[in-house]
Amino acid sequence: MPELPEVETIKLQLEKFIVGSIIKDVEIRNPKYEKIASLGGRNKSKITNSKIISVRRFAKQLSIDLDNNYSIMIHVKLTGQLIFRQKALGTSQALSPKVIGGLGGKHTHLIFHLDNGDLYYNDVRQFGWIKLVKSEELRVNNFAPEPFKNLTLEYFISLLSKSKRNIKVLLMDQAKIGGVGNIYANDALYLSKISPKRTANSLTEEEQNNLYNAIEFVLKEGLKYGGASELAFVTPDGKEGEYQNHTLVYGRQGEICKNCNKNKIEKFFLGGRGTYWCKLCQK
Ligand SMILES: [Zn+2]
Repeated sequence: MPELPEVETIKLQLEKFIVGSIIKDVEIRNPKYEKIASLGGRNKSKITNSKIISVRRFAKQLSIDLDNNYSIMIHVKLTGQLIFRQKALGTSQALSPKVIGGLGGKHTHLIFHLDNGDLYYNDVRQFGWIKLVKSEELRVNNFAPEPFKNLTLEYFISLLSKSKRNIKVLLMDQAKIGGVGNIYANDALYLSKISPKRTANSLTEEEQNNLYNAIEFVLKEGLKYGGASELAFVTPDGKEGEYQNHTLVYGRQGEICKNCNKNKIEKFFLGGRGTYWCKLCQK
């Protein structure tokens, strides 16, 4: 599932493409999304002819804010894709093969027709959701603290110290920390040399500090490479991210650990999720 760097990458591109655009019409091609979206009927009039004034991200969710005090909230979940086609560029725009069925195909559920192009919502598994909310309901403090915003070291330390849960599972709990998922939790634990098997409250002060910094470091790396294109992740320009080629430990089972240069990275399942580690380096 896209994590903070992937969703931030979507946000940054959308900002560039659609802020200042006018929504001319919304084409709902899948009735399921009419219900999820609440964009049909009466609500449709709330977004047509409105101007997009900003795009924000709250953990893994996106908001497209309109000039009429409403926001379109989107959570792409596992396989949702937002792809923008600029009118001026026509069919010359790149499109990743991860966009199954293409644009306007059977996995395209919604199309926002803007004055400067079309914004497509594709979703193979259809776990993603889109809804219309009042913009004033969207405040940072209504979401779990997230890195680079309001996840302070103090909050992080107190969260870990009070929890007997597994550290990796806790890092990925969206109700406690926003935006960190499996890829970056694996890499952050590897970078800070902490075993994913530890309980959260067993970390020393030094380990808590190291892990906090490691989370920020790996998320920044993810963002630098435009996110990781696992499964279905594509960027709004129709291309893919590159972080999957730069992970520290995630997806590297069988490879020699680059830290100790002798042990092989192993994979096991923890809380149902693929977990990668070097048992020599991570204690
Ligand atoms: Zn190692």
